[in-house]
Amino acid sequence: MKKLSLFLLVFLCGCTGSHTLFHKGTSNYTIVIDADAPASEQYAATELQHWLREVSGVELPIGSLTDGVKGRRLIVGYNALVAEMMPDAEKPADRDDAFTWCNKGGDILFWGGAKRGTLYAVYSFLERELGCRWYAKDVSIAPKQTRWRFGNLYNHEAPAIFIRDNCYLDPLNTPAFSARLRNNFVRLPGKRDGETIPGTAEGYLGVHSMGDYVSPKEFYATHPEYFSLIDGQRRSDYAQLCLSNPDVLRLCTERVRERMRRHPDYLIYSMEQNDNQAYCTCDSCAAIAERYGGQSGLMVWFVNQVADAVRDEFPDKFIGTFAYQYTRHAPTGIKPHDNVVIRLCSIECCLMHNYDDCEQNRAFLDDLKAWGAIAPHLYIWDYVTNFPLYCLPVANWKTLQPHIRDFRDNHAIGILEEGDYQTVSCEMREMRTYLLAKLMWNPDEDVDALILDFTNGYFGAAAPYIRQYLDLEERILRRPGMHVNCFTNVHAEHYTDEFVREGRRLFAEARAAVSDDPVLLARVEKEELALCFMQLERTPQEGIENGADVLFRRVVEREGIDKMTEWTAPRAKDYMEKYEKMKNEMFTK
Ligand SMILES: [Zn+2]
Ligand SMILES: [Zn+2]
Repeated sequence: MKKLSLFLLVFLCGCTGSHTLFHKGTSNYTIVIDADAPASEQYAATELQHWLREVSGVELPIGSLTDGVKGRRLIVGYNALVAEMMPDAEKPADRDDAFTWCNKGGDILFWGGAKRGTLYAVYSFLERELGCRWYAKDVSIAPKQTRWRFGNLYNHEAPAIFIRDNCYLDPLNTPAFSARLRNNFVRLPGKRDGETIPGTAEGYLGVHSMGDYVSPKEFYATHPEYFSLIDGQRRSDYAQLCLSNPDVLRLCTERVRERMRRHPDYLIYSMEQNDNQAYCTCDSCAAIAERYGGQSGLMVWFVNQVADAVRDEFPDKFIGTFAYQYTRHAPTGIKPHDNVVIRLCSIECCLMHNYDDCEQNRAFLDDLKAWGAIAPHLYIWDYVTNFPLYCLPVANWKTLQPHIRDFRDNHAIGILEEGDYQTVSCEMREMRTYLLAKLMWNPDEDVDALILDFTNGYFGAAAPYIRQYLDLEERILRRPGMHVNCFTNVHAEHYTDEFVREGRRLFAEARAAVSDDPVLLARVEKEELALCFMQLERTPQEGIENGADVLFRRVVEREGIDKMTEWTAPRAKDYMEKYEKMKNEMFTK
């Protein structure tokens, strides 16, 4: 940890000013909140208390506005005191994530929306002024300091994207960590109350939900006409609904309304096509699709009616539907209503190139712009890992930013960044999680600076070699004209044996640099899993001879890796058995 702190101390040497927050383990400050502060502001106060103690060694008391606090104050949350001290500051809306922190004389004020904004103000202050970092769920940095002084403090930020869904395992399973990264979406069944899970609240309930509302099991025998007509047959399996049928509209409306009543904590409720392309071809559906420029027109026509029907009872909620596969093109002559969210999916896209300079992405960009022009609320479902094998290197470090900028520029209110949400086997998942959080909040962040900061803080002395490895990925895997989507394999054309060998050479140097630190060594070895796997699959003899199988097994066992792919098999243990067998065969020859 000493090495990490040294790096951060360089960052911190500019703290000067006439007010002293703490000195040699003492402070005359009190953290002050409203007596009726919402849960997330109470939590913000305890987080400020905790991380300040980590940095300074002193635990500040938390008092309430009515306590008549003596001495200097850290005022947390928009309350009567903030209103009095900052008369120009308006009370933010509860779910507004924008925040401000500043000083007024020797007091420091932190305020934003009551659900999360104030909490984010506290994290922002801790990051920018005191050098705190939350690189991973179990890797937090709070650089020790003996004294911290300040003069003029001011920072105001607002997120570029309103709903930030960082779909990797740790943000999903560790809400406190996720909140520190300012992700405001966490899937935790039964625990979605934003007041009890600080920093998370904006839920999207369901996916591919039409089959739940009107299922073949319940209705096909009695009402086959509710389902897709294909080649003259109403289909019970692998089908969609017949959207022009008024009973289907009635059932979907009734059932989504029931769901909204049962689960009132969500913001958006799915009314989305099933995960297949077997849309209904009956005359009536075909006529509506024809009228509105295709299948997405039929879908918007249907979903608008559902949204209209629930609007009076749920004026603050949204009905969400897909622009996905056969509904990806925007319709003509019809627009989504203002309580409809369009979830546009990038599943066909190339991850290696910007949308505007890749022949495989231009059609998506056209769709993005077309939907952006007509949809009051666009939500992007973006794919950022390799689903058939999570561990394979995806050299998309340089495209995350331009892609998210395109989403922002086309008025996306939300982004789901679907990564490895199932296991810890994904290549560089901690850095991916971190970068995505930073970029969804502010797509104009300096990505190179973020990578420099993260690698130094997370990999310590191994960081220069990790960065050389990222450069190698950039050079070899991300070439012009070499397109890669989120479904690739270990023998794909962009991977080369030279890449694997050179990568392993760099990782050997990275391991050597942290050989005296078991914690850092384990982090480096975890990232080498990808290359060990690639070597064992591509050049097995070479992999066995240089011990790739031993490192693979060690990482799998230490990290508890089970799933390697989004599909059910093969699992990590299957690969270990395979390599064991390969080794035995080599040695018995
Ligand atoms: Zn039909
Ligand atoms: Zn491409």
